Amino acid sequence: MILMISLAISVISVAQNDYMDAQAENEEKTYKGGETYEVKTFPHKFKTDNPRNIILLIGDGMGISQLQAGLTANRGRLFLENFKHIGFSKTHSSDNYITDSAAGGTAISAGVKTYNGAIGVDPEKNPVKTILEKAEEKGLATGLVSTSSITHATPASFIAHQTSRNMYEEIAADFLKTDIDVFIGGGYNHFANREDGLNLIEKLKENGYKVEQDISKIKKVKKGKLAGLTAPAHNARIEERGDMLEVATETALNILKRNKKGFFLMVEGSQIDWGGHAASTIYVVEDMLDFDKTVGNALEFAAKDGETLVIVTSDHETGGMAVLNGDYNNGMVVGEFTTGGHTGLMVPVFSYGPGAEKFTGIMDNTDINKKMEELLIKN
Ligand SMILES: [Zn+2]
Repeated sequence: MILMISLAISVISVAQNDYMDAQAENEEKTYKGGETYEVKTFPHKFKTDNPRNIILLIGDGMGISQLQAGLTANRGRLFLENFKHIGFSKTHSSDNYITDSAAGGTAISAGVKTYNGAIGVDPEKNPVKTILEKAEEKGLATGLVSTSSITHATPASFIAHQTSRNMYEEIAADFLKTDIDVFIGGGYNHFANREDGLNLIEKLKENGYKVEQDISKIKKVKKGKLAGLTAPAHNARIEERGDMLEVATETALNILKRNKKGFFLMVEGSQIDWGGHAASTIYVVEDMLDFDKTVGNALEFAAKDGETLVIVTSDHETGGMAVLNGDYNNGMVVGEFTTGGHTGLMVPVFSYGPGAEKFTGIMDNTDINKKMEELLIKN
């Protein structure tokens, strides 16, 4: 009898806890509206047909639902609405219908479909030269900016050649083998506090880099080589990291634009993906809006410069997100997620500037690389 009563009580308490978990989960799935920003409109008049510079912005995990969530949260306006040339990218990797960010990044950086986890190597694990490396060989300036660790899959795919995305120390060491002008993101520990005992911070300084960890110091650097390592590993969520992505992107552009031959810059909004993995509409919206504002900064630069091509895309969709409800008047969005992982959905490709018309229609993620290289490297 006593056993039965205690069993009954424990069943009730488990049920109560389930209910509480469900409540907490639902709270994350509803963004109640928040601060908004003004969206500017930029002219579509350019000085050339061949871009001198490319700014590639990758919203990790950004599919159409993530865009829709951001659009609703900002009361129906996004900087992305400036784009007139729009396409879709097929994201599958060489060994999987569902890509990860390493294979997705390598497809865009080097134009090859490879296996999930591969950083700048093909399916046979041979290194493949990236657009960043080719731009360097041509004498262009280069940069990488990310809200994750700078050694994380997406930025790593542009500069490193490793058989696994988890080889953070090897990836950090690969930065030293290049002549990259600016990189800003987390990952200080992969350079400084390494298991192999090497201090790559000293090596970076020997190679002429200004190494800074504080974004307020990073933004003061106007020329030369800059390694901005803004967190021990990944950068924090937006409430803590603030406008780091916008500031880092502006800083990188200020330095890179000094090169008369041109530049290649990749900027990643990494945490849209993490919002999807966490099944959190709130997290998705926060990082979607942060990324869109940074797209605005890139467009502003390109509109003024007249020789810069801006491409915005994603490596894959995350969360199988759907938007179930929303309100353009108060910014409320209700999201739902069908998986804790990535999906095989096509992702959007937006382009603005000289050469933008080449990035329309349905393409493979590897085509984005080929089109960029035709315009920036082979011209
Ligand atoms: Zn992911």
